[in-house]
Amino acid sequence: MVERKIKTIYDVVCPFCGTLCDDLEVDVSDNKIIEVRNACQIGTKKLFSSNPSEHRFEKPRIKVKGEFKEVSWDEALDKAADILFKAKRPLMYGFSSTECEAQGKGVELAEMLGAILDNTASVCHGPSLLAIQDVGAPLSTLGEYKNRADLVVFWGSNPVHAHPRHLGRYSEFVRGYFRKDGRNDRYIIVVDPRYTHTAQIADLYIKVNPSEDYELVNAIRATLRGVDLDEEEISGVKKEDIVKLVEKLKTCNFGVIFFGMGLTQTLSHHRNVDAAISLVRELNDHTKFLLTPMRGHYNVAGANQVFTWNTGFAYSIDFSKGYPRYNPGEFSSVDLLMKDEVDAALIVASDPASNFPAAAVKNMFKHPLISIEPHKTPTSEFADVILPPAFAGIECEGTAYRMDKVPLRLRKVKDAPGECLSDHDILERLIEKVKEKLGE
Ligand code: SF4
Repeated sequence: MVERKIKTIYDVVCPFCGTLCDDLEVDVSDNKIIEVRNACQIGTKKLFSSNPSEHRFEKPRIKVKGEFKEVSWDEALDKAADILFKAKRPLMYGFSSTECEAQGKGVELAEMLGAILDNTASVCHGPSLLAIQDVGAPLSTLGEYKNRADLVVFWGSNPVHAHPRHLGRYSEFVRGYFRKDGRNDRYIIVVDPRYTHTAQIADLYIKVNPSEDYELVNAIRATLRGVDLDEEEISGVKKEDIVKLVEKLKTCNFGVIFFGMGLTQTLSHHRNVDAAISLVRELNDHTKFLLTPMRGHYNVAGANQVFTWNTGFAYSIDFSKGYPRYNPGEFSSVDLLMKDEVDAALIVASDPASNFPAAAVKNMFKHPLISIEPHKTPTSEFADVILPPAFAGIECEGTAYRMDKVPLRLRKVKDAPGECLSDHDILERLIEKVKEKLGE
């Protein structure tokens, strides 16, 4: 019998969701992941998806007469640079599932090209960023919530499905320094139009009407200020239930609201988050209360940080005038694509064809498309150039920011297959090619 050599890598950071669990153990044999311990199902699946398969690209490809053909890196990068150099209004989108070092290179390339630079926040927590720019935000680390929070509100978020280990590591079942009895020491509230799996394990479920969060938050704020509401029911919630909810919120020792896209992407968008931040500020007249967005992609928080250090703005940035301009709604990817303003796109670590509106996707496919993507996806299938990357956090190191903006160092557990390069190296080589075309 042939003996297999198995190497175990400890304290691996999971590169899937914004919880960035940093306690994974990964067994590797023959440069393949054979076992993952401590991760949830979605994190495990991501790690296994890096193994070579019929879906994984291992060499660069360009499309010739409707068929993909494998080419050298030099040829693929030359074609990609040519597309970007010739475009009048190129879009660079994605960046939330890659390391900060690659995001920095993305900013450099966008500035050189006079491109639009955007990340996935423009379709998820962009409204949170706008609200925080407006009114500030009382945030803290997940460690503080774990050790101190005795009341946790999940508003428009469903961590049982989207951030499965958040509950066990930070917010619900975990024992903290001042919450030694774990789940028994916490009161969990879920506000959501749907009776989600998170709602099913909560102590209190508040069923709000779809897209009426703004009215409910402000009814809670008014009640907190002692106002007797005129209406018997606001946003589908009875006045007496709002009064009971306010009593719970103001009498806890340490509360937190974790909010998701159920708050940011429903009617009123950033005004919902404005109102939630104001509620938290007002609750601090009575007790200690904070809030934190439940970030989805594992390094979308990093994309916002890196873009902001470099340009002053977190997403939806236009370099066409030679300096960064910011106007979500005008320079956000979906809006530009809907107006058919973009004439070429570079997509980095993202699959917008799976989640952008059909009209935007249709316009994206009309023009040359470059995809830095390890797998066959609806976006890469329609690309003219595919540049295959190593998985950040599995096949190369890098930095990522957790949802509470704590930076963690991603670990490498195995080599990338074939000729794959890190996103950082791909973008660096693309920059060199573009410089050649610009005559620099
Ligand atoms: Fe990975 Fe998120 Fe699951 Fe943690 S909760 S293991 S970060 S997918």
